[in-house]
Amino acid sequence: MAPVRVAVAGSSGSIGTQTLDVVRAEGADRYRVVALGVSSSVDVAVAQAREFRPEVVAVTDPTARARVAAELTGLGIEVVAELADLVAPADVVINGVVGFAGLPVTIESLRAGKRLGLANKESLIAAGPVVQPLRATPGAELVPVDSEHCAVHQCLRSGASHEIARIVLTASGGPFRGRTAGELATVTVEQALAHPTWAMGPKITVDSSTLMNKGLEVIEAHELFGVAYDDIEVVVHPQSVVHSMAEFTDGSTIAQLSLPDMRLPIGYALGYPARIATPFGRIDWSALRRLDFEPPDTTTFRCLGLAYAAGRAGGTAPAWLSAANEVAVDAFLAGLISWNQIADVSVATLDTHDGSTPGTVEDVIAADAEARRRAVEHLQRITDQTNGPTPPP
Ligand code: MG
Repeated sequence: MAPVRVAVAGSSGSIGTQTLDVVRAEGADRYRVVALGVSSSVDVAVAQAREFRPEVVAVTDPTARARVAAELTGLGIEVVAELADLVAPADVVINGVVGFAGLPVTIESLRAGKRLGLANKESLIAAGPVVQPLRATPGAELVPVDSEHCAVHQCLRSGASHEIARIVLTASGGPFRGRTAGELATVTVEQALAHPTWAMGPKITVDSSTLMNKGLEVIEAHELFGVAYDDIEVVVHPQSVVHSMAEFTDGSTIAQLSLPDMRLPIGYALGYPARIATPFGRIDWSALRRLDFEPPDTTTFRCLGLAYAAGRAGGTAPAWLSAANEVAVDAFLAGLISWNQIADVSVATLDTHDGSTPGTVEDVIAADAEARRRAVEHLQRITDQTNGPTPPP
């Protein structure tokens, strides 16, 4: 059988580099990388392109693109500007782009009837109403590359959709599990980036520390599996071994277990409906002692409830939440606001939501821009209050 042709959007990031790990482990006779895409990581893109010899490399930043093109001269690799151009030569597209910039890859993959391994949760969350109809394109298939949703996807193979009673998403609780709001007022960027069980990129790691990641995953689960918000529950499970569960109408709960390793969900998406031959995250049952579960502290971790509210509001509300949160997390990582103020920015932005519903990609992009504009305003107000009035010269 010919190798499966793989495109990797966001190939320099955490999901992208791990996708290439899986491809290396599985071998060139099973998977062939035909397209790679980055925003501006010249050295990584060049090294990856030299190793995998794809047909096309996309670099969105113009300066970086010129440098990549110069480095790859003579190798017969086309260097392009648009991440969506990675889709055409591929059988399966792994979308590991961080943030809203991943939307064109999601849309083009489904529109072209490809299998999409989706790690870019923002694009589905922000653009759900626009993306959903594209899933009906013949050949199009959306396989989640997120440990929880990959788990649910596997669990749901145990029963029919009308037999699903509830989905239970597990959350590690992040580095700040058990802390009070008062204790969390002074935490640093370094502390927020020290995740106890998962090694991930900075944005998603901060989102894990606020439980916004879990909140966005609740919306993602609703969009992916069509389960009502009332039937999606979150439980804190510090060991990150049970990746999520599905409960069926007869009371049976099916769980998926493995050690935390993103290469498992990536391999699941690459191989689906078959399973890949290389094991990742195998459990050593002689070493595993206990699995703990507790309800989330939704008072301290306000972002979780905020996400349920945005999901239930529907329309562009999830897009607004995702955009406001990106603005807030960037500001936190830049040292402009405290950890507690990440939720403040999202609350203030969602409070002014206009109740609109996106009908087109342009509507989604406009909603994203509007939410960012308002989030920046709220951010400005918050930092002004924190720093006090500017003293006269
Ligand atoms: Mg996850």
